[in-house]
Amino acid sequence: MSLAKTLAAPVPPGGTVGILGGGQLGRMLALAAARLGLKTHVFCDNPRSCAFQVCEAHTIGKFEDVDAIGAFATACDVVTFEFENIPATTIAHIAGIVPVNPGADALRITQDRFDEKRFVESCGLKTSRVFDVDSAEGAAAAFAALGGPGVLKTRRMGYDGKGQAKVATPAECVAAFEAFRCAPSILEGFVDFAFEASVVAARAADGSFAAFDPPENTHENHILRRSTVPGRLTPAQSETAKALARKIADALDYVGVLAVELFVLKDGALLVNEIAPRVHNSGHWTIEACAVSQFEQHIRAVCGWPLGSPARHADAVMENILGAEANAWMDHAKRAGALHLYGKGEARRGRKMGHFTTLSPLTKS
Ligand code: AMP
Repeated sequence: MSLAKTLAAPVPPGGTVGILGGGQLGRMLALAAARLGLKTHVFCDNPRSCAFQVCEAHTIGKFEDVDAIGAFATACDVVTFEFENIPATTIAHIAGIVPVNPGADALRITQDRFDEKRFVESCGLKTSRVFDVDSAEGAAAAFAALGGPGVLKTRRMGYDGKGQAKVATPAECVAAFEAFRCAPSILEGFVDFAFEASVVAARAADGSFAAFDPPENTHENHILRRSTVPGRLTPAQSETAKALARKIADALDYVGVLAVELFVLKDGALLVNEIAPRVHNSGHWTIEACAVSQFEQHIRAVCGWPLGSPARHADAVMENILGAEANAWMDHAKRAGALHLYGKGEARRGRKMGHFTTLSPLTKS
């Protein structure tokens, strides 16, 4: 039996939402919470976290520091997280003090790429072919079983293409495994998709569900470049995408916003690439194009408030501002649209520094 606390009543205005992680997602969650009269307390190990600039309180500490985590949890009415690489023991510790949404199970499954793929299959949904790899011999054997090009990915801790390598021969597969310092990995079949898409959706504790329209996503160097809504998904594919996100959210008994990243195949089929148990970069356009953004929706769900409407009142294109592109902030400021800069310091190559959303009249709902 789980000892995790659940919310006995909605967190009222004036209450405090704890956020584990202090990046741009935490920052935008804190801004959305403030609009609802809620306070936020951000916990992060980076003293220069950009979310610290916009929250009521913050704690600088290691996620493994039981005392610091305990004091943080005690100061919050509910706790959520903005990135998935948080130790399961940390979540379990917090959940014994204060409710954590989404819960530990959702985090545990989505932290491990192999478990996640198996879970997706258990929901009756399609994903790429996958083999687990935990030795150099296993890497060669997995490649032989796959019989074609693939992508080797570490099971844990990967993001934005980190911890993944495209492999076209058994030798490349072994070399990639060794380059990952023999960390437990998976070998996935390379998917020759038509394009990528995602569904960002919310589920509340009472099982109510609201999905935003799925955008088409363009990646460069494994990093999201642009989300376009509506994209090339047909209305039927959009409905299928929303339905599969609901299946996943229900199976996880999920509370909060999640994103399901999809490969759209040339024959129109949808493959689940991965599940992000949090607000997602491909949902940033909802800030301007929907009355209730993904960030507000997440805060509503985790605080036990009713979900807002995910209806879109405009078409939108969201483009990330990466690395040194942020130096041209004045040029971005002159463009027609909504500029978001995250208040981060160093504009390292590929670092997400901000985003820009352009709206146009609604063409399809
Ligand atoms: P991921 O971290 O798994 O979301 O991967 C980041 C990006 O790499 C994806 O959005 C795709 O553009 C690309 N990618 C990942 N896995 C595959 C695959 N199995 N086949 C083709 N492209 C992939």
